[in-house]
Amino acid sequence: MSSYDDIARDLVIANRILAKEEVVDAYGHVSIRHPDNPNRFLIARSVAPDLVGAEDIVELALDGQPVRDEKRTLYLERFIHAAIFEARPDVTAVVHAHAEDTLPFGIADATKLRPVIHSGSFIGSEVPVWDIADNFGDTNLLVTNIEQGRDLAKCLGGNNVAMMRGHGFAAAGRSLIEVVRMSVYLPRNARALIRAKQLGGRIRYLSQGEIDARNRGYSPYSTETWRAWEYWANKAGCGDMLRRPGE
Ligand SMILES: [Zn+2]
Repeated sequence: MSSYDDIARDLVIANRILAKEEVVDAYGHVSIRHPDNPNRFLIARSVAPDLVGAEDIVELALDGQPVRDEKRTLYLERFIHAAIFEARPDVTAVVHAHAEDTLPFGIADATKLRPVIHSGSFIGSEVPVWDIADNFGDTNLLVTNIEQGRDLAKCLGGNNVAMMRGHGFAAAGRSLIEVVRMSVYLPRNARALIRAKQLGGRIRYLSQGEIDARNRGYSPYSTETWRAWEYWANKAGCGDMLRRPGE
């Protein structure tokens, strides 16, 4: 099992990658479950992902509150992560972002976000849309308490991604690399689908069999998966922080 320092370092890399790939900007965040205590998770304090360093990582409990006395401001929407980790023991890492190309799929009923390209297969065949107004009425649309987080986690169910109406998305993965990869390809899949719709005619989605075949071939530290992580980390200027597990 990876040590705390390894996990914290990987989380810094994930923040930088998501910023460089424009999945997040000043807002949006990524978290990882604590390697030794499944009832805790690590996430940055309230700072833009591109600026996150190891010293910015804080440890929170599954109610979204810090486990130690913490004077620094925390992300308002940390409850998204807390509630998903609480509801899904199989989830190791979570991303929340507002990537623009995904937003139409939380707004328009006409077309569901589903995989149309091979690299989009990991979002899964079902991407539910969560509308905060359904149970909380008129809000500022942000997930600012654990009840709202739990409502979102319930909508996510056993899926990998949920759209958040008029706001963004939440993605849950079995590993940090997986959730980063999913979050990078989610806007690309969304763009491809929007453009295909513009061309007109029938949309050919990936079949369930194709999605399953892609999933079967996935391993978080395979050469192919690592290749992307290594590429993204170098592009984001933090290639020197990389260390493959077991090295
Ligand atoms: Zn948000």
